[in-house]
Amino acid sequence: MTKGIAAMGIHHKILIIGGGNAGLSVASRLRHAGQNDIAVLEPSDKHYYQPLWTLVGGGRAPQKESVRDQASVMPRGVAWIRDAANHIDPEAQVVTTAAGAEISYDYLVVSPGIQLDWDKIPGMAEAVESPAASSNFRYDLAPKTWELIRSMRSGTAMFTMPSGPIKCAGAPQKIAYLAADYWREQGVLDDIRIVMVLPTPGMFGVKVFADELERVVAKYGIEVRKNSEMTSVDPAAQEAVITDHASGTQETLHYDMLHAVPPQCAPDWLKATDLADPSNPAGYVEVDKHTLQHTRYPNVFALGDAGSTPNSKTGAAIRKQAPVLVQNLLSVMEGEAAEARYSGYGSCPLTTARNRMLLAEFDYTLQPAPSIPLIDTTHERWDMWLLKRYVLPFMYWRLILPGRA
Ligand SMILES: Cc1cc2nc3c(=O)[nH]c(=O)nc-3n(C[C@H](O)[C@H](O)[C@H](O)COP(=O)(O)OP(=O)(O)OC[C@H]3O[C@@H](n4cnc5c(N)ncnc54)[C@H](O)[C@@H]3O)c2cc1C
Repeated sequence: MTKGIAAMGIHHKILIIGGGNAGLSVASRLRHAGQNDIAVLEPSDKHYYQPLWTLVGGGRAPQKESVRDQASVMPRGVAWIRDAANHIDPEAQVVTTAAGAEISYDYLVVSPGIQLDWDKIPGMAEAVESPAASSNFRYDLAPKTWELIRSMRSGTAMFTMPSGPIKCAGAPQKIAYLAADYWREQGVLDDIRIVMVLPTPGMFGVKVFADELERVVAKYGIEVRKNSEMTSVDPAAQEAVITDHASGTQETLHYDMLHAVPPQCAPDWLKATDLADPSNPAGYVEVDKHTLQHTRYPNVFALGDAGSTPNSKTGAAIRKQAPVLVQNLLSVMEGEAAEARYSGYGSCPLTTARNRMLLAEFDYTLQPAPSIPLIDTTHERWDMWLLKRYVLPFMYWRLILPGRA
């Protein structure tokens, strides 16, 4: 079949690489705008709503609610090419796929998400397969996180975050709070030492949310190791080496339960293309942070986790990026300048308890950028929990992917 595609010299006016949150939001919006030659290059037959994995790991949502068949979410009138991009030649305007097909395009949207580098931390890949460790960053492992939390009655629980940009930078903390609140409910919190390892000097990049999170960790008695990282792990001994980058010291801690988050970067194949930002080894697609247009190839745009924009890598950011990108792409197709601007908005629904959440919303200025009128979402609240558990998943499947919100 692929040879057939290659032989036919497949061409689409608009080619979108990746049919995840970003790719499908853009494809739907382009369809609403009347575009009728759009293809989405997407290898997976499943589509995941990843934000729910935190709640799956915390025992607050079933795993199956986070997945749907890709076919059921693909917008009508869009061609789905079930293959993976392997290379992009932006001069020739051709994408080569894993199966060897060549797809040419007039306009390209790059949104294949982020790469999880499990092997970058020695022992981490093996650890998450071992009985005492897990990670909500994998669909199949999120239920295991909950099993570990549920069965723990005493000992040391460790929650780690890597350095560098990752998707949903709040996720490594959220699962610790869900776990701590469960242990509090069960009356075993005092018997469990909770260690949270953060690469940052503070709990969060925006002060008002950092202050609130300081209160949350104090409430649960969580030991926070700031400026620190898990630099290796020995799953057989259940020991993790924590390096404090500020003091240069290392310590080895035994854990009875570990929730690990891998370092992340652009996909390797994407890093090797001319679209990657040469000044940044993370390899993200080099786009203007406001227009989302490539800085060197004006017919190329990127959004979501694979873009170089310095916002927090979240679905919330994509909700604001997609309409900007589509408006600018349509302008460029008309021979006009890309004038719509993305503000850097991102948000992080921080679950601080099993029924409480605070909504951290901010933009490139790193100042709070609240979008919900009248209520103060900078403190943990029950109604924000309902937003996370019920409203946002509904919005994702019914409004965001179909390009209506
Ligand atoms: C545990 C966890 C919790 C999170 N919590 C939140 C939250 O509370 N709020 C929030 O806003 N965000 C959250 N996020 C982040 C959010 O899920 C991502 O930011 C978002 O999914 C990024 O969208 P994307 O389209 O860029 O990438 P993805 O949604 O990951 O989609 C990428 C797509 O590209 C496809 N692809 C991969 N390689 C190729 C290739 N070579 N060729 C073609 N296609 C390819 C993939 O199969 C996938 O379908 C969370 C993420 C995780 C893991």
